[in-house]
Amino acid sequence: MGSRVARERPDQPFAGFKLAHAVLAADDGRAGFAGLTIGGQLVYDTIAEASCIWSPRHVPPRRRCDCGFYCLSSLAEARALSCATANQTAVLLEVVASGRFIRYERGLRYSRQRVRAVRVGRCGCGRPASGLADAGRGLVGWRHLKPSCDACAADRHLVTFGSFAARLGGLVPVTRDQGAAGWRGPITDAPGRPRGSAPDGLPGADVVAALGAEVALVHARLDHLQEQLSRLEGGGSGAGP
Ligand SMILES: [Zn+2]
Ligand SMILES: [Zn+2]
Repeated sequence: MGSRVARERPDQPFAGFKLAHAVLAADDGRAGFAGLTIGGQLVYDTIAEASCIWSPRHVPPRRRCDCGFYCLSSLAEARALSCATANQTAVLLEVVASGRFIRYERGLRYSRQRVRAVRVGRCGCGRPASGLADAGRGLVGWRHLKPSCDACAADRHLVTFGSFAARLGGLVPVTRDQGAAGWRGPITDAPGRPRGSAPDGLPGADVVAALGAEVALVHARLDHLQEQLSRLEGGGSGAGP
């Protein structure tokens, strides 16, 4: 525990990894990112300042709130998250976090973010992506995009990596994620039983279990917040902080 505290350097930017949905403006002129769960309704640019979706009265990240940007310190853990069904069409972002922050065991919650690289995983068919196509979902004014290969995007608009990068402002590289997890065909080699953290940076079962626990914690916090909100809306006389 002591070592974790010793590694804290608030004055230094923190490099991390996260998943986000790539989005394209309705007029095709701009691109950005939307969060996976909390903050999924907010679109952010390559350089962004967090705002609290629950209350305009405090500045993220606040300890008893869930607001702020999130990132993980390990690439392997971000890739593990991308296996979840809801996250499979997300892109991987390399970010630099700064400003106010709260450090967790596996990453950071923070106020200011700069995206420094976008890595696009495989198409749903398993082939490497050659661009981003309409995912069939979106927000008001923004279409969600998903990684797509040429063949799958044959009859649809495909935003190439270059044009997506240009719509982000041209300062951030957008490339194919060479290491992205994907179905690579038949598995024929003998299995090596992983113990704890697997070699080659792949997440072991313990990492996945820990991530699951963190997600459960976030949900528990959300439930608690919902409870507080309904109490305020229902009983509504308190002038709480
Ligand atoms: Zn907040
Ligand atoms: Zn495909």
